[in-house]
Amino acid sequence: MTPSTATIDPRPSPLHQTLARQVQRARLPDGGVDLDRLLALVSETYAETDVDRRRTDRANRLMAEELEEALSKSALQNVRFKAALDNMNQGLALFDPAGRLVLTNQRFLDIYRLSEAPAGLTLDQTLERSPCLSIGTPTAQRRLIREYHDIASDPGAKIEQRWPDGRTITIERNQLVDGGFLDTVADVTEARNASAQIAHLARHDALTDLPNRTLLHERLAEMMRNARRGDRCAMLCLDLDRFKLVNDTLGHPVGDALLVAVADRLVALVRPHDVVARLGGDEFSILVQHVTSDRVVKQLCRRIIETLTQPFEIAGHHIQIGASVGVAMGTVEALDPDTMLRDADLALYRAKRDGRGNYRFYTPDMHVFATRRRELEIELRRALNSNEFEVHYQPQINIETQTVVGFEALARWYHPERGVISPGEFISVCEEIGLIGAVGEVILMRSCHDAACWPENVKIAVNLSAVQFKSGTLPALVARALRDSGLDPRRLELEITESVMLEDTASVITQLKEIKRLGVLISLDDFGTGYSSLSHIRNFPFDRVKIDQSFVRELGTNSDSLAIVRAVTGLCSSLGIMSIAEGVETLDQLNILAAEKCDSAQGYYYSRPVPLAETGPFVSRMAALHAVAA
Ligand code: C2E
Ligand code: CA
Ligand code: CA
Repeated sequence: MTPSTATIDPRPSPLHQTLARQVQRARLPDGGVDLDRLLALVSETYAETDVDRRRTDRANRLMAEELEEALSKSALQNVRFKAALDNMNQGLALFDPAGRLVLTNQRFLDIYRLSEAPAGLTLDQTLERSPCLSIGTPTAQRRLIREYHDIASDPGAKIEQRWPDGRTITIERNQLVDGGFLDTVADVTEARNASAQIAHLARHDALTDLPNRTLLHERLAEMMRNARRGDRCAMLCLDLDRFKLVNDTLGHPVGDALLVAVADRLVALVRPHDVVARLGGDEFSILVQHVTSDRVVKQLCRRIIETLTQPFEIAGHHIQIGASVGVAMGTVEALDPDTMLRDADLALYRAKRDGRGNYRFYTPDMHVFATRRRELEIELRRALNSNEFEVHYQPQINIETQTVVGFEALARWYHPERGVISPGEFISVCEEIGLIGAVGEVILMRSCHDAACWPENVKIAVNLSAVQFKSGTLPALVARALRDSGLDPRRLELEITESVMLEDTASVITQLKEIKRLGVLISLDDFGTGYSSLSHIRNFPFDRVKIDQSFVRELGTNSDSLAIVRAVTGLCSSLGIMSIAEGVETLDQLNILAAEKCDSAQGYYYSRPVPLAETGPFVSRMAALHAVAA
């Protein structure tokens, strides 16, 4: 090797520089080169370079391996990331600052029913590809795209769109730092439907699907907000007559079907903007809007009553009910929903009291009446606790012998301030507020005790209310009254009216038979006032029939009444049932009854109902008269 080669290249390479250094180190003092030394130096250097190269190779290999591993890791991460994106419940769409699509996930494609959304499309182009948009009208399509386009990008800004295919979709936009934006899209149809259904259930009656009280309130309030000045409306409250009887005797499924049929008939009667609501049980109400005159409302009331009186055919049953209606009228701006409903309810109460199958318009005196009625309820509860109920007795006379055969027990309320109050004022209230059981018990106990002191041939007749049969404990109560008083059962007579026979007949008959087995007599009161009196005489072995005072009063003036009295006494004697006429006030009436072979008579002609103290003297007086006559 010659040293000259080391000096040829003007731009020394690292190898060149190393060689130059080695030549330098191998120089001899005379300026020549010690070739052996140079060779040794060079091979030493080669050995070093070799180690370096091997090192570098190894390093490269390691780096490649690491890189490969890193790459496969990030690919995995990418797959995971994509899977996560695609399986998100929300659709995602990423747009660049120019509004061109960069990326979407699968859910986004699904929501808009897109097979693909290539990067680079604008938002409009993306939406226009959606088949669920194209089924809408062109106007609807334009509106939906514009709305989407214009979403505010404030954080949390969100719009909700109803798509032509019926779905509800929400879109939320997030502005990105580079000027692009990320939209999050969700199909909330199910959630909205579910909440719409819950909202519907909360405002509708589950059985008839009519609006309930809540929705009626809202409609009324809404109507009041939107009404023109002077606009009038009517609130009708109605209640079905005899519905309870249907429910109790034919069962709840039939009762339910009947309510649905009633709802249908009512809806068919009103105009589309009127609201028919079910307030619960057999209570319905109708809000009539834009009322031009009272006459229109009266006409509607008549049609409601007429329509609901038409028979219903349900599950093979021929069902006849009826309806009572209460009406509150109002100028829209002067009313509040609660007052209107309350007034209509008060009018309904009056309609029912006045004999059902009726309608009544609210008048302010009804409010006064309701207040008094509430006071009366409080007073009655107090009266029961302070033993203010007494019994008066009205004698019953055998027409032929003119002797006292018994007394009818008639309840009296000795009010500390108002004096003696008659049962007409409080018995029905007691029935309505559930106090009749307790009051009836007081009367029965007292009557049996008092009667036990009378001569043995004198009976006691006690009135029972239909409500007293409800609990089923009446036979036990009667047995206890007899036991406590020691009264001979054959001296006790219980008076029931036809309304008792109209209640749950099977249970009533069972209880009546049980009472009869004790030896107690049962009589049918107010005979002739109901519409199927005769059938009741056949259905149950009554011991006595009381001819109602309305017929007795007209004896001598009305030939129909005479015919009825004649028919009843004739029927009774042929069936072996005793008869008694009540409300006998004159000798004329008594003579006719005697001619018709009526067994007994009761009325002012002989005596008004009297306190216990006067009963003994009365019996003696009649006995004395009888003795004189004999
Ligand atoms: P009711 O059972 O028909 O009783 C007869 C009613 O006619 C009694 O009225 C009696 O005072 C009245 N009266 C009797 N004779 C005559 C007469 O010659 N002329 C006229 N105009 N009236 C006469 P009162 O005592 O006011 O009882 C009214 C009703 O209250 C009774 O009618 C009965 O349905 C009911 N009631 C009375 N006490 C009780 C009771 O303890 N329990 C139940 N559940 N109801 C009772
Ligand atoms: Ca009676
Ligand atoms: Ca009577």
